[in-house]
Amino acid sequence: MDIFMKPSDLQLLELINVDEDAGTIHFKNRRMLFLDADALGFLRKEMIESLGREQARRLLMRFGYARGYRNALAMRQWFNFESDEDWWIAGAKLHGLEGSVKVNLIHAEIDRENGICEVVAEWVNSYEAEQHLKHLGLSDVPVCWTLMGYANGYTSAVLGRDMYYIEHECVGRGDSRCLVRGSANVDENSSVVRLALEQKLLEGKDFWKEIERISSERTELKELLQQLERRSIEIVQKEARVRELESQVIYLQETINEPYNVEELIGASPGFRGVMKDIDQVASSDATVLITGETGTGKELVARAIHARSTRKTRPLVIVNCAALPTGLVESELFGHEKGAFTGAVQRKLGRFEIANGATIFLDEVGELPLETQSKFLRILQQGEFERVGGTQTIKVEARVLAATNQSPEKLVAEGKFRADLFYRLNVFPIRMPPLRERVDDIRLLTNYFAQKFRTRFNKKNISSIDQQSMNRLLRYSWPGNVRELEHVIERAVLLATGDVLKINLPLSENEIMSVGAVASDGNQELVTLDEMEKSYIREVLRNTGGVIAGKGGAAEILGLPPSTLRSRMKKLGVL
Ligand SMILES: [Zn+2]
Repeated sequence: MDIFMKPSDLQLLELINVDEDAGTIHFKNRRMLFLDADALGFLRKEMIESLGREQARRLLMRFGYARGYRNALAMRQWFNFESDEDWWIAGAKLHGLEGSVKVNLIHAEIDRENGICEVVAEWVNSYEAEQHLKHLGLSDVPVCWTLMGYANGYTSAVLGRDMYYIEHECVGRGDSRCLVRGSANVDENSSVVRLALEQKLLEGKDFWKEIERISSERTELKELLQQLERRSIEIVQKEARVRELESQVIYLQETINEPYNVEELIGASPGFRGVMKDIDQVASSDATVLITGETGTGKELVARAIHARSTRKTRPLVIVNCAALPTGLVESELFGHEKGAFTGAVQRKLGRFEIANGATIFLDEVGELPLETQSKFLRILQQGEFERVGGTQTIKVEARVLAATNQSPEKLVAEGKFRADLFYRLNVFPIRMPPLRERVDDIRLLTNYFAQKFRTRFNKKNISSIDQQSMNRLLRYSWPGNVRELEHVIERAVLLATGDVLKINLPLSENEIMSVGAVASDGNQELVTLDEMEKSYIREVLRNTGGVIAGKGGAAEILGLPPSTLRSRMKKLGVL
């Protein structure tokens, strides 16, 4: 069902937008001015005195015509009126809202189809009559010229043909009110013509020649106004384009300021080489890629590597951390919003998907997306379309999608937290980034790489080697925080280093050290006593059981000992 705007529902404060910061007032997208009527009256007086009354009248009528004509176009552009009559009445209402005059319609007959328009209206509180009296005193002719121009311009825009108004009573001439009559018909039978002739309102000029002159003048004026309208629309479109580019620039600046921007993937282990092979294989296609792996394994680096090896490498890689999106603004961030979509949406904003058009978007922690947002995301993957928040226009977007999660997507689907159809759509080409404990061979490489990097960054050029004891500890550690944790450990060690040998004092609790068996393949391990080995093994088992000793699945059962025996061994070895 259509919702129509009724002229009586027009509210000034809903139409205008005052932006104190910008120093602007807008009526929808049209810039307006808050003018002092006295200053306008003064200008009018100056015009009459310098140009003569006739020339001033013509200019002021043209000025009014332009206002009325533009207001009519604006009203039709922004509101849905049930009939032309409502559209026309809105003009009279708006004239009042603008503070020019109060219009009381006495008679109105409007039939656009048949070109009929007959109007009689009373004007109350005409600012123009008031100003004329104030600056120039009583006139011998009606003086509400800008108002006449407005009525002409507005009505002509609604009817699509010329309209003739005459003001035959005017407060400026000493009458008790201003009274106007208008008609689209100007032959001998027209009441307007008869009135004009009777009252000698044209001051002795040849009436028909005058009508001809007015008519050709208006044709020219309308052409100018239409050009103005086209230029205004072009300017609005250009401004919208500039804002789009601005939001892209802001996004790109944010991206440039992010750390880990130029980090490369480092490794030589079989698991790592498998990932690199996958990246090379999928990069050049536009396939969707789902990257899984624990926190800190470098899923974002995988996404960057895919983008950098793709045909889109010169376009932006738009990165979105779904877990970091502010609650309530998830959809606005992803899909953008229209001005006024919600409190605080002061202007249109483009979402990340729109910014990524023609480029690549990487959605990290995709498992954190609310279910409702997931269905909109699915629609983008399937049809490449969406709507901005608060918008009705369907927007097409073509972006390559890379997604990542540190959770098991299958588990999320089973728990009902992730849509199965979205998962299948994303899982076209899965890449699993192995945890660091499965890439023990890479720890030495990564340690060297990070040591070099931070040695340069912190200007510690004297560091020439890494302490062997420290390296052994790094190799034995289980790295729950993966590569990112290793990077932070090395960063801290380099920052605190004093000599030329880098010592890495892991602030790690013993139970985070991997059991000896896990690194048995590594030849650099330290030799330890049997007691140490037993102690370490008990700790590892306890870590796995979460400290539970007795009962089913407890450490005692795993070790094949009665709980009391295990407790006394622990006491003897000093395992707390
Ligand atoms: Zn008047």
